[in-house]
Amino acid sequence: MKAIDYIKDIIAPKKCYFCSAEGHFFCPQCYKSFPRISELCYVCKMPSDNFIIHDHCWKYLDVQSLIVLFPYRKIQKLIKDSKYYAKKDILQDVWAYAWKYLVEILGIDNPSDYIILPIPMNFWRKSKRWYNHADILAKYISKSSGINYHTKVIKRVKNTLQQSKLTRAERLSNLDSAFKIDEKYTDFIKWKKLILVDDVVSTWVTFLEVAAAFDWQDIMSIDCLALASDTQIFDEK
Ligand SMILES: [Zn+2]
Ligand SMILES: [Zn+2]
Repeated sequence: MKAIDYIKDIIAPKKCYFCSAEGHFFCPQCYKSFPRISELCYVCKMPSDNFIIHDHCWKYLDVQSLIVLFPYRKIQKLIKDSKYYAKKDILQDVWAYAWKYLVEILGIDNPSDYIILPIPMNFWRKSKRWYNHADILAKYISKSSGINYHTKVIKRVKNTLQQSKLTRAERLSNLDSAFKIDEKYTDFIKWKKLILVDDVVSTWVTFLEVAAAFDWQDIMSIDCLALASDTQIFDEK
């Protein structure tokens, strides 16, 4: 991004990406009427309230639910633009509303039962972009919902290649034990319900790899959350 564009972005008034009204990047009216994803079980692809993995599908996974908030096509530009440093508070606008939906889906009564953990990005991508988008996401969800978050619990121990450049089979083997849980934080996450977050997901394999890295005797549950998914199965209602 050119310096001049960067400065323009900072001083320009916020405009809604969908209706151009000033004051928000995502205005309350547009959020209300925005298309949502059909709630389904990721394993069998059949409808399931709150994206819960069915009991009979459970054996394949160690997680309770895989939640996707928005259809990728509809929110693509907003997500891409939020990756520029000057525009990262786009996500703040999104989360100002979306956290209520998350609380409803997960049935959260007590925020202190939960911890939000962003999926770490590999070093090379982070050095190119300066910050991890999932960290920003975690921060904003935490700010609106009162749920604690931490960016250092999950460690990437292997720098996997950028997922989007690989075939599906390559992606699966590429992620083999790529994550570790930092022992320093064992007490921090003890008996907590974990919410793993990422911005855009393609395969969910990353979430499942991270889930597999936890000691399941010490935590209560894991739910996974993505802002959007570019796979066909998560289509709009
Ligand atoms: Zn609008
Ligand atoms: Zn199922």
